[in-house]
Formats: sequence, structure tokens, C-alpha cells
Amino acid sequence: MDQRERARRAASARKATGGLVARGVTAVAVTWVDTSGISRVKAVPLSRLEHAAAWGIGASPVFDAFLLDDSIMSGRFAGGPVGDLRLHPDLDRLAVLTALPGWAWAPADRYDQDGMPHQLDARYLARREVDRLAAGGFSVRASFEVEWAASVGDGDDFVPACTGPAYGMTRLTERSGYLRDVVGALTAAGIAVEQIHPEYAAGQYEVSVAAEDPIGAADTTVLVRETIRAVSLNHGLRATFSPKVLAGGVGNGAHVHLSLWRDGANLMAGGDGRYGLTGTGEAFAAGILSRLPALLAVGAPSVASYLRLVPSHWAGAFACWGLENREAAIRFVTGSAGDRSRAANLEVKCFDAAANPYLAVAVLLAAGRAGVAEGGTLPEPVEVDPRSLGTVTPLPSSLGAALQAFETDAVLKDALGEAMIDTIALVRRGEIALFEGADPEEIAARTRWKH
Ligand code: GLU
Ligand code: MG
Repeated sequence: MDQRERARRAASARKATGGLVARGVTAVAVTWVDTSGISRVKAVPLSRLEHAAAWGIGASPVFDAFLLDDSIMSGRFAGGPVGDLRLHPDLDRLAVLTALPGWAWAPADRYDQDGMPHQLDARYLARREVDRLAAGGFSVRASFEVEWAASVGDGDDFVPACTGPAYGMTRLTERSGYLRDVVGALTAAGIAVEQIHPEYAAGQYEVSVAAEDPIGAADTTVLVRETIRAVSLNHGLRATFSPKVLAGGVGNGAHVHLSLWRDGANLMAGGDGRYGLTGTGEAFAAGILSRLPALLAVGAPSVASYLRLVPSHWAGAFACWGLENREAAIRFVTGSAGDRSRAANLEVKCFDAAANPYLAVAVLLAAGRAGVAEGGTLPEPVEVDPRSLGTVTPLPSSLGAALQAFETDAVLKDALGEAMIDTIALVRRGEIALFEGADPEEIAARTRWKH
């Protein structure tokens, strides 16, 4: 953060302030996402926004070592009472939160007091991966699907907000005002909503948003979730994005859609590989597929994630890929004939919303880039329910198993750096210990209102 960048950020704050005043904004919430996938916040009144943009808002680095129950680990690179960072709101992503009247929001970039990026800042690590791909002439378009479950009242027990059939119009009708306000608040926040629908599980809904650059997609998913949370509270509901709301039900995924682009062309389409994949697009996908066990330590990072990641729940619990296969960890989507050069993409289904979306982006891009460097190829696609074959390898069935793969993966080590690898492992071990001996009901209940 040099003087020039400070001046640029201060100028953006000055430029934004008039519009914010006109829209009745009093204060700006500045969020970052911790290692456990929880958005943490500091806020400033509008009068302080310019100072915050240029000089940052003080915040302890301790949150990198927080577990989902707010207990704190003590590690080599994170934890403990000492130190202070600077949160610089990125005003390029400023949004007005109409569901929280008087509030605007911006994501934070975390720097140290010498103006260097904090080595555990997930948004910084994601940007570094975007830049590495760009150095090879590539860009990625991404989006996170958002599934959530809405519960009536403010109690800790889950009371589904709708009782109609899965995907049923009844569920929309039961909560039409709520869903209208979700769409309205997202649109007012500048989100390009593509669709909204009732999902399968009790009280479950889903929003899809347009693809954008990877950092934008991660920012968007934070904004979408916090907006849904706010609209829910305004309607006397409680929203949860937890991977497994009820031990017996279908979970909430946070599927990540990715397409790789070079020279204005989508490399997921127009090639002579299977389903139109180009060789480079296939290699990118292969880099991800071959590293899924390790990637899960970031993308399915909670003990509850492994209650969700089971066969026959459309969570993508098998280490395979297939065209429009909703049980494959990677569902390949071509889009409609005539629109494929725009629409074709990979959907990484096994990720959930306990993942820090910036870290998710960072590791997916790193794995894809490694695949391209290796000239990776995909195995045969799976065109049936993988379970029925009996030969397709399931993904790790526990966080501990995913962590083992993660800690020995050289590509992820290079992407995230030793400090982040060590801190992720620290937090994952802490959460494994936290739930030691707990049965699925207890894991679901204790995770339910955290994300
Ligand atoms: N809710 C499912 C999950 O846990 C996904 C359902 C779907 O394919 O949209 O990922
Ligand atoms: Mg869905």
C-alpha cells in the first residue's frame, strides 16, 4: 500500500460519499472472511470512510486462528493477543445494503502497518492466483451458487419457513414477499441475480448469480449471503448456509462454477475434446479433479461438511466428472447449443458455504493452473450415478482425511504459502477436536447458525 494507492483509495471514498449520503447511508460495514468461513466485520461512520480507505481500520490478526465457535487456537503464524492489522475497504465493491437501512458494505483487504499485504489475507491470496493465471494469458469467470435454509423465529431449533413440496410453487407462494425482498435487496446491492427457487430440503432456497472475475465472485457471495441473512431477519426468519442443517436432510452446497478464458475465448467450449472441451480447458479441469481430496480441506472445511458430502444427496461426493452429472464432484455444463462459447463451465459441486470463498477461489485456480502446466487429461466421464458403478472413488469421508491430502499437496503449498497452510491445518485440527465424540445431530446443531 504505497502513497499512490492510499491517495487512489481516498479519492474513491470522496467520490462515493455523496451518493451514499443521498441513499441515506450512515455507516459502512467492512468484512473479511476468516479461516473457518465466517465473515467478521468492523464498521466506520461515513465521515470516517476516507480515512479508512487510505489508512485502514485497525483489527487484530487473531481471527485467522478462530474456530467456528469463536474459540481461538494458538499457532506458529496466527493466534494470540499481540499485533494489529489494517482493513482497507475496497470501494470498487461498495454496495448499499437496503435490507439494513443506513448501511453500506465493502470487502476488506488486510494489510500490515507497514503497508504490506497480510500473508494470511485470503482476498490477497486469491488475487495473487488470478494474477498468476493472467501472467500466462488466462482469465477465469466464476460464480458461487448460494443455497440456504430459512427457519421461522429466532430459536436454535430449525423450523422450516415453508412446508410445500421440494421445488414446489407452493414454497414460493408461502414466502413470496420474502423471496421478492431477497431479489430486491440483492438487485439494489448491484448483484446480477439470474434465478431464485425453492430447493429440495426443508425450508431450503437457492439463488444463482452471474459469473464474473474470481475475486468479484467471492465478494459477491459474501454480499449475497449477508443480504439474505438481513432480509430473513426482517421477515422474522433465520437463514443458515450451514453444510448440514439437519443431520438427516440434504445439505447446503456452495457449488463453484468456473470457466477458463484466453484471448476472449472460453476454453471450456469449441474444442475437439469430449463435450467440446479444448485441451487446455480439459487440463485445467484435470488439475482440479486430481487434487479434490486436498482441495476439500478448503472447500468443505467443516466437520459438518462431511455429513453433507455423502452419496445420493447431489453434493458431488464422488471423485469423477460427467456431463450434467449431479452426483459427480465436477459436473460439466455445456449450456445450450448456440450459446456454448459463452456458457460452458465446470461446476465444482463438492464445495460448501463453510469455505472461505476467497481461499476456495485461490486453491481452485492454483489446481487448475497446475493442471494446465502438467498438460493434464481427464479420465473417462461418468454418465450414470457413480454409486451404481461401484468403481468410482468416493471423496474423503472426513475432514481429517481431506487435511492429510491437503498438507502433502505441493501445488497448494505453493499457492497459499507455508503460513496459510499451517494456519488452515491448525484451525481444521481445532474443529476436529471440538466435535470429537459428537454424533451427527449434535454436529449439525452446533454448526447450524455459524455460517
Ligand atoms: N443441496 C445440494 C448440495 O448439497 C445440491 C443440490 C443441487 O444440485 O442443486 O450440494
Ligand atoms: Mg441447488
